[in-house]
Amino acid sequence: MIEINGVSVFSGVAIGELRFLQKRRRETERVEAADSAAELERFEAARGEADMELERLCEKATKEVGEEEAAIFDVHRMMLSDPDYLEAIGGIITGEGVTAEYAVSRASETFAEMFSSMDDPYMSGRAADVRDIAERLLAKLSNGDEGRPALSAPAILAARDLSPSDTIQLEKEKTLGFVTSGGSANSHTAILARTMSIPALVNLGEKLLPEYDGHFAALDGFTGTLYIDPDAETLTAMEKKKAESAEARARLEGLKGKANVTIDGRRVKVFANVSGLADIEAVLENDAEGIGLFRSEFIYMESDCFPSEERQFEIYRRAVEKMGDREVVIRTLDIGADKQAAYFDLPHEQNPAMGMRGIRICLTRPEIFQTQLRALLRASVYGKLAIMFPMIASPREVDEAMSVMEEARESLRRQNIPFREDISVGIMIETPSAVMMSAELAERADFFSVGTNDLTQYTLAADRQNQQIERFYDARSEAVLRMIKIVADNAHAAGKWVGICGEMGADTELTEKFLRMGIDEISVSPGALLPLRRKIRSLDLSK
Ligand code: PEP
Ligand code: MG
Repeated sequence: MIEINGVSVFSGVAIGELRFLQKRRRETERVEAADSAAELERFEAARGEADMELERLCEKATKEVGEEEAAIFDVHRMMLSDPDYLEAIGGIITGEGVTAEYAVSRASETFAEMFSSMDDPYMSGRAADVRDIAERLLAKLSNGDEGRPALSAPAILAARDLSPSDTIQLEKEKTLGFVTSGGSANSHTAILARTMSIPALVNLGEKLLPEYDGHFAALDGFTGTLYIDPDAETLTAMEKKKAESAEARARLEGLKGKANVTIDGRRVKVFANVSGLADIEAVLENDAEGIGLFRSEFIYMESDCFPSEERQFEIYRRAVEKMGDREVVIRTLDIGADKQAAYFDLPHEQNPAMGMRGIRICLTRPEIFQTQLRALLRASVYGKLAIMFPMIASPREVDEAMSVMEEARESLRRQNIPFREDISVGIMIETPSAVMMSAELAERADFFSVGTNDLTQYTLAADRQNQQIERFYDARSEAVLRMIKIVADNAHAAGKWVGICGEMGADTELTEKFLRMGIDEISVSPGALLPLRRKIRSLDLSK
């Protein structure tokens, strides 16, 4: 039996076969190849497969989201047969005696740079398409491994690391749990595991070897241990733990339908965090009073191109309809840093967490923001939808965002498209600057929601992605707790409500503190709802 310790990101037990997924390695380095004819043949085969795949994607997209979205795949197919592009790749393979992978990467980069230097915004936007095509070709050259995790049968997934976009695409039914060599407990990947209620361990280090692929394993999400080839005694203990955790869960079920109120009568709204429509079932199952954070960026990350207004409208409409008369707070696009989508063509940055992300992208590229705001406003007539802006650092940014929203409203009015005029608009408090300016911000917003994940990162100057400094990222930081108190006081002085939607909200050791500060709402991943409700009902604030 091999025992490896890591950091647990979602408690629970998983027992099953370990399936190690090695992410596609991008061969972009110059590698010589003696047989150019064979390389040309490999390239041609990859091109044929990529073309067929694009054709299928185009058909699927036409059926599911409409012709407008599907057109992008046709554009990619045209590029795949562009004589100049093909000649450039062939020329590098034969002229320099190198691998097809290297030729594809180099030729594509040259074309992408040529496009991005063009003045015409349409042409410069094609750079992202060329890079996308290169990715697809490289995937085909590495034996069709898409680089996206897929399991054919239920198993514990193992990988060096998983990006948030990998994680969102996991098939929940087949993923008993996941374990990664790298990764941090505060990353979006970890948050997604919690949202999807998948037992998961990160940061297992180099001991997690690909050769364990196919071995039997038990994952203990309570202690952070992975057992490979567990002995009979360990296996029995793990099976017992699994059954106990299912029983404990079942006992919590009794809380459903009961009010979220303390012994002395303080009511608190208990809401849920979701990453998309698929999570709403778990929200309803756990009887949340609403959705306090709908991370809309995952709609963009699951897509190969910008999701149209129509597609987004459908998703938001279905979300509010499913939730009936319960509130749904949809956060506008918070892409950037660890949450990437290739077609955004975001710049490579030294400090991405402090770079082009969240509201900064929306204010810099208002056409993207407009599309989302129009979709959200249109969906507002179908339920109780609220909009929330992420990563706000100054009142000026809120003013700018509000004016883009006003333009969206105006354009809908001109087209006689209905929307709710009284829609509630809130902001996330996740920068120290927003805390210090919270009195001014409260004049501009209908509510606040404290994003403690980022607020902790920026307050403690501790990158939430960096596993090496995890012990400096204090998830119960006193500095952050004091900040939340300031925010709550300023919100209440202006008559606004204030919630918490970062992971701190699920830490039941802190619930009493939050309620004493007067926090009105706490939003947590669906799996954390019932334990939080039990905690609230056990508190007596009069003592
Ligand atoms: C946060 O920062 O606390 C938050 C809720 O947003 P995200 O984790 O998606 O950055
Ligand atoms: Mg955040």
